[in-house]
Amino acid sequence: MAGRLSGRLAVVTGASRGIGYQIAKGLAAEGAHVIAVARTVGGLEELDDEIKSAGGSTTLVPLDLTDMGGIDRLGGAIADRWGKLDVFVANAGLLGVLAPIGHIEAKTFEKTVTVNITATWRLIRSLDPLLRKSDAGRAIVMSSGAAHSAKAFWALYAATKAADEALVRSWANETMNSALRVNSVNPGATRTAMRAQAMPGEDPKTLPTAREVAARIVPLAFPDVTETGKLFDVRQNRFLDYRDPA
Ligand code: NDP
Repeated sequence: MAGRLSGRLAVVTGASRGIGYQIAKGLAAEGAHVIAVARTVGGLEELDDEIKSAGGSTTLVPLDLTDMGGIDRLGGAIADRWGKLDVFVANAGLLGVLAPIGHIEAKTFEKTVTVNITATWRLIRSLDPLLRKSDAGRAIVMSSGAAHSAKAFWALYAATKAADEALVRSWANETMNSALRVNSVNPGATRTAMRAQAMPGEDPKTLPTAREVAARIVPLAFPDVTETGKLFDVRQNRFLDYRDPA
C-alpha cells in the first residue's frame, strides 16, 4: 500500500484491542506490514480482517509477553525473515490494581512489573539490533500521565510507567548517533477497557476514542521524525522536554 510507511515493517504489542489495535490499523493504512502481538487470537484476527480488507498486510503473533523466551524467538524470526525492523510500538500494558501500596498482592505486583517493564526491556533487547539496521528506525513506548502524577493508589502502575520512561531516555542516549529515534507517549485518558477498569464510574463517551488517539501517535513512526528521548503528549499534540537532572 502507498503511504508514509510504504514497504516498512512494524511490530505493535497489545494489538488485539484498544489503542494498540488502532495504532496497528493506522500503521498498516500508511503502508507498513504490521506484526501484531497479543494473547487474544480473536482480537488479532479481527484486526487482520480489517487491515486486509483495506488492502494492507499483517503477520499475527499470539504471544503472552510474560514468555521471555517467546519474545527472544520473535526477534529471531524477524531477523531470519526480514533482517531488519523499521517501527516498534511497545503498547501492551496492564493496570494491575489501584490500591494502597501495602494492600497490593505480590502476584499482582510481579505480573504487572513483568508485562509493563520486563517485557518492554526484553523486547528492546531483542529488537534494537534490527531497528538499527533500518535507515529510519522508530520506537514508541506507551507511558501514562500516572508516571508523573504520584496519585494515591496508583503506585504500581505509575512505577512501571516511570520505569518505561527511564528505559526510553537511556536507550535514546545510547542510540543518539544512529538513525534510530525512540520516544515515550502519554496518550491521555482514552476510551478503552483499561480506562474503564481504572475509572468504572466514568462515562466513556466523555473520552477520546482509541482511534482518535492513535491518529496522533502513528506519525511518530514516520521517517521524518527527528526527536528522540522525549515524551509525546497526545492531548497537547507535541513533544515535551525532560528537565535536565539537577
Ligand atoms: P487495553 O487494556 O485496552 O489493551 C491492552 C493491550 O495489551 C491488549 O491488546 C492486551 O492484549 C495487551 N496485553 C496485556 N497483557 C498482555 C500480555 N501478558 N501479553 C501480551 N499482550 C498483553 O489498554 P489500552 O489500549 O487502554 O492501553 C494501551 C497502552 O496505553 C497501555 O500501555 C496503557 O498503559 C497506556 N495508557 C492507556 C490510557 C488509557 O486511558 N486507556 C492512559 C494512559 C496510558 P491481550 O489481552 O489480547 O493479550
